[in-house]
Amino acid sequence: MDFFITILGSSSATFHKNRGLTSHVVSYKGDHFLVDCGEGTQIQMQRFGTPLQKISRIFISHLHGDHFYGLIGLLSTYHLFHRKAPLHIYSHRPLQEIIGLQLKASSTELSYPLYFHDLEEGQSGVLYETEDLRIETFPLIHSVPTNGFVFKERNVQRRLVKDKIKSMNLPYEAYDELKSGKDFYLDDGSLIRCDEVTLKPFLPRSYAFCSDTGYTEDFLPFVKDSTILYHEATFLTGDAPNKRLEKYHATAKEAATIASKANAGQLIIGHFSARYNMLSPLLEEARSVFSNTTPAIDGKRYVLTHESSSETVS
Ligand SMILES: [Zn+2]
Repeated sequence: MDFFITILGSSSATFHKNRGLTSHVVSYKGDHFLVDCGEGTQIQMQRFGTPLQKISRIFISHLHGDHFYGLIGLLSTYHLFHRKAPLHIYSHRPLQEIIGLQLKASSTELSYPLYFHDLEEGQSGVLYETEDLRIETFPLIHSVPTNGFVFKERNVQRRLVKDKIKSMNLPYEAYDELKSGKDFYLDDGSLIRCDEVTLKPFLPRSYAFCSDTGYTEDFLPFVKDSTILYHEATFLTGDAPNKRLEKYHATAKEAATIASKANAGQLIIGHFSARYNMLSPLLEEARSVFSNTTPAIDGKRYVLTHESSSETVS
């Protein structure tokens, strides 16, 4: 379980008694990224055992309160915990000014370096990458500039066949060479052929986060073949209270249509209107279009597996 998502909040703008405001933690091989930070996020993190201090980068999809009002509380807590590690925040403007004013008003000089990276309206492309993970952004359709994010594995390596190599007593450096697709020469000059002791790499896994958005297929190229696709599903079809909300939010059916067109392995729906006590009607509507749909549940982990990408654990 080296790639998983933890849902911290699954409600839309006004929270439901059982559902917090939008925030997800993306965990990949020991790195932890926060995506959106609605009010109460740090409390949800404590409740659900998120390694608070290990968050290194925060991605804010847009500046509606239910997606970022939890930020100042979290930043302040880090300061009170004497955090030293740098923190990076990716967001539309003017978040830096908003946070700066809040810190100034409370005479707070943070104990750690805080770096802001501005998102431009309509921006797409790579925001950050490591040797084995790339984080990209893409624009969504909403009433203010809004971006989605996708976390994609990169440089996925070949898999060692343990039964074949265990009797070979190979030096440590041989493993890296063979996994990267190269043959390896032992000191005595004999050759270990990569294709004899390794298998093809797994397909790269990816997690796509489609925050608040009306229905649009424009971002499909960015989320194609996602292992898990999260897409907001605020309402059932026909339930939006007005045209404006209908235009800037999606129904369960629309979320499922995107998952189907994107050839996603699994769909998580969330950002549920507080009017829904039971999620089963939303789930039913989505599953009529895309069967492998699961609801976002606060505190639940969703594991990105190589095999089926449909496994979830509580
Ligand atoms: Zn919004």
